[in-house]
Amino acid sequence: MSLRFFNTYSRKIEEFEPRDLVDRAITMYTCGPTVYSRAHIGNFRAYIFEDLLQRHLELRGYKVHRVMNITDVEDKTIRGAREAKLPLTKFTEQFKKAFFQDAETLRIKSANEFPAATEQRYIDRMIDMIGELTARGLAYQADDKSVYFRINKFPNYGKLAHFDLTQLQSTGRVKHDEYDKEHIGDFALWKAWDDEDGDVKWDSPWGAGRPGWHIECSAMSTALLGDQIDIHCGGVDNIFPHHEAEIAQSEGVTGKKFVRYWLHCAHLLVDGQKMAKSLGNFYTVPDVIAKDYTGRELRYALLRVHYRVPLNFTWKGMQEARESLDRIDEWLARLREIAKVGNVQRSTPNAQPSIRPDFETALDDDLNISAALGFLFESIRETNRAMDENMLDTASAKAWLDWWQRINTVLDLEPETDTVVPQAVTQLAEEREKARREKNWKLSDELRDRISAIGWEVRDTKDGQKLTPRGGFYPQNLR
Ligand SMILES: [Zn+2]
Repeated sequence: MSLRFFNTYSRKIEEFEPRDLVDRAITMYTCGPTVYSRAHIGNFRAYIFEDLLQRHLELRGYKVHRVMNITDVEDKTIRGAREAKLPLTKFTEQFKKAFFQDAETLRIKSANEFPAATEQRYIDRMIDMIGELTARGLAYQADDKSVYFRINKFPNYGKLAHFDLTQLQSTGRVKHDEYDKEHIGDFALWKAWDDEDGDVKWDSPWGAGRPGWHIECSAMSTALLGDQIDIHCGGVDNIFPHHEAEIAQSEGVTGKKFVRYWLHCAHLLVDGQKMAKSLGNFYTVPDVIAKDYTGRELRYALLRVHYRVPLNFTWKGMQEARESLDRIDEWLARLREIAKVGNVQRSTPNAQPSIRPDFETALDDDLNISAALGFLFESIRETNRAMDENMLDTASAKAWLDWWQRINTVLDLEPETDTVVPQAVTQLAEEREKARREKNWKLSDELRDRISAIGWEVRDTKDGQKLTPRGGFYPQNLR
């Protein structure tokens, strides 16, 4: 079965046809963070969607080359650096670091390249592209010395956003600082230097200044991936004007179709509302971790809803994510036990729940993760029932574990190996140690049960007590 994606450009589900049918190599460009503050969980929802997309393409045998840019110069980074009284690079560096840390916490696969807009070779390319657009009459320098894209000269402008330019003209009010532009919708390619920019400036044929945000992505994507990209992703709020402008600039220079498939991820809401610092519902990855959740749990919570559906983040949802992962962990531990020690054979081959390709085919269908997870949990129910009845044989348990390994290349939801032991558990374990020293076996057993009740297992080894997250095989009669 072939892959199908909803292409924002056509507003249709389209069959995915890579350009390179022989090597099945795919180029993918994903708009990365603007490093003026720590990225919030809404940003990471989009990055997790892109991660899922890449991993599924790889599961299907494609070789994905992904570029994610870092926007380290635009209005917000300059303003932030000025307010913090720091040089721009020093200011943005902390948020670049934080971004990579958070991406690692969420197990997001690293892109092949992370170009930053301020690297000189990209600045040079931006200047080249702007020069080319100017030579073709697609750009002009206004009286304010900035260079703008002339949208009226690019007939396809508005196609991605399905935007009618005449509406823009009739309803658009010309703001004070936009008098210099020919058209209200013309966007800046090169912003002339002013006092507020401080020492953030580069020389150009149009005088000192800095690039506009949109041209950064056009320059970095074409520099690293060529004139045409297979898949370009971002959040829905990137569609207009950012991606619309990327198309105009890139196609304006190359004359070739810039992107074959545009995929956009819907918003993340918190408790049904738009996330905003003023509403107190604005969360970063460390904010969630501070509430005693793991990166793996947050990954699951951000992953489990179809990317074109708005995701409503709630603490109840985080709890559900934890419970779902517990079910997976417990199931895996039971399967591993049977795979290892074998099973009392009462089973017949046709009593084994069958492994169907439904997980993968659900993802083929525009990355339908909810259906894919639905199938996973249905499989867990069926195999658990077979294990409860002692009907699952060793070969079958191994086959399910192999299947899990395959789908987990997409999900990446195995438990952390070096899990941090919560304070409450450590404390109970210390009390238990003391009870054992005092040979108070009754208390020691009670404490073991209390530790178990909060999801941890304590084992006595020659090196002392060992604590592991339970989630594992727990005999039916003890539950
Ligand atoms: Zn971009």
